[in-house]
Amino acid sequence: MRFDTDCLHAGYRPGNGEPRNIPIVQSTTFRYETSEDMGKLFDLEASGYFYTRLQNPTSDAVAARLCALEGGSAAMLLSSGQAATFFAVFNIASAGDHVVCSSAVYGGTYNLFAVTMKRMGIDFTFVDPDCAVDELDAAFRPNTKAVFGETIANPALTVLDIEKFAKAAHAHGVPLIVDNTFATPALCRPFQWGADIVTHSTSKYLDGHAAALGGAIVDSGNFDWDAHGDKFPGLTTPDDSYHGVTYTKKFGQGGAYITKAVVQLMRDFGSTPAPMNAWLLGMGMETLPLRMERHCSNALRVAQYLQGHGKVAWVRYAGLPGDRYFDLGRKYLPKGCCGVVSFGVEGGRAAAERFMAGLELASIATHVADAKTCVLHPASATHRQMNDAELAAAGVSPDLVRLSVGLEDPDDLIADLGHALERV
Ligand SMILES: *Cc1c(COP(=O)(O)O)cnc(C)c1O
Repeated sequence: MRFDTDCLHAGYRPGNGEPRNIPIVQSTTFRYETSEDMGKLFDLEASGYFYTRLQNPTSDAVAARLCALEGGSAAMLLSSGQAATFFAVFNIASAGDHVVCSSAVYGGTYNLFAVTMKRMGIDFTFVDPDCAVDELDAAFRPNTKAVFGETIANPALTVLDIEKFAKAAHAHGVPLIVDNTFATPALCRPFQWGADIVTHSTSKYLDGHAAALGGAIVDSGNFDWDAHGDKFPGLTTPDDSYHGVTYTKKFGQGGAYITKAVVQLMRDFGSTPAPMNAWLLGMGMETLPLRMERHCSNALRVAQYLQGHGKVAWVRYAGLPGDRYFDLGRKYLPKGCCGVVSFGVEGGRAAAERFMAGLELASIATHVADAKTCVLHPASATHRQMNDAELAAAGVSPDLVRLSVGLEDPDDLIADLGHALERV
């Protein structure tokens, strides 16, 4: 089926007389007739449900829908985007390993990598996403296990040259993991450009209504773990904690990575989404293409308005002709560059804060990418743990205002912005 149809139907086909919507299976556990039946599930000899920490029918149906939308081989849902980022990397990297990461990433991702996972013994090298190929190549080490970047970086709004990053990753025998939160598969499908694994904070556009936190990981099934078996022993040699199963042997190239993340990491960390939250995500995805189209057209109009306003110092939106990422946007995001626009208010940090206080329709929220317009000053919120040099490397200037353009009538949004700018 085509993309818009999959948004509505992929992952769940009701049988005769069954509920037309994905049922919410609000149960921790599942009943079996014999211990032998259950034992087969624990041995991964049969597939079925036994405990919602590992798998739940509602979550699985929604994961299968997202898997279809990204064009992947397997997918899983998690309780948050942070959990998805952590699992995606930790599934293939452990103490003593190294990961190459674009410096333009979400503040929470930066902290998870540079502080928390570093404490777990994993080293990260952050590279400018616009760096030359040889500079990117120079960041790799013999113990590098993955490359990580964001399709559209939050909040820097840089567009990742996915092909460049994929080529570098593959030349060094490791997968490229792309956080596709801002683009969603409605605007970009990173697997088409060589990415191997996609992560999401589904809390943003995929849910779309700021209703439920969630995360997801989708595997393309394209990365040949066995061809680089020495780098990925966790996938290619027996797992003693799971009855000696070898994931690539038993679940194949398309199933090994997600199965390991579910039966090993989800078992041990328990970052499981509530069935209700998974259901909300599935419902949100039904209207994804319609919403993304409107987010994109509204954002472009707002960006054009801001660009022509005397009190606005600069505007960053890859859909604007002349933007530094316009060409990469045209290539990777031909349908639009999402609803997030960033800009600087003339007068710097203090002026930006006065501008935000003057908004009436747009609310100040530590959220982004949902139906209602909201606005944030990253330097005093999501990125406040960074010093000025780290802020600059992440593409966040002290005057940067991140505006998440919602689905309101664009004329109302522009009027609100105009009033607030007048009062600066
Ligand atoms: C919000 C966000 C995350 C973290 O997701 P949570 O659901 O808030 O845990 C990760 N990556 C990007 C790009 C995000 O915008």
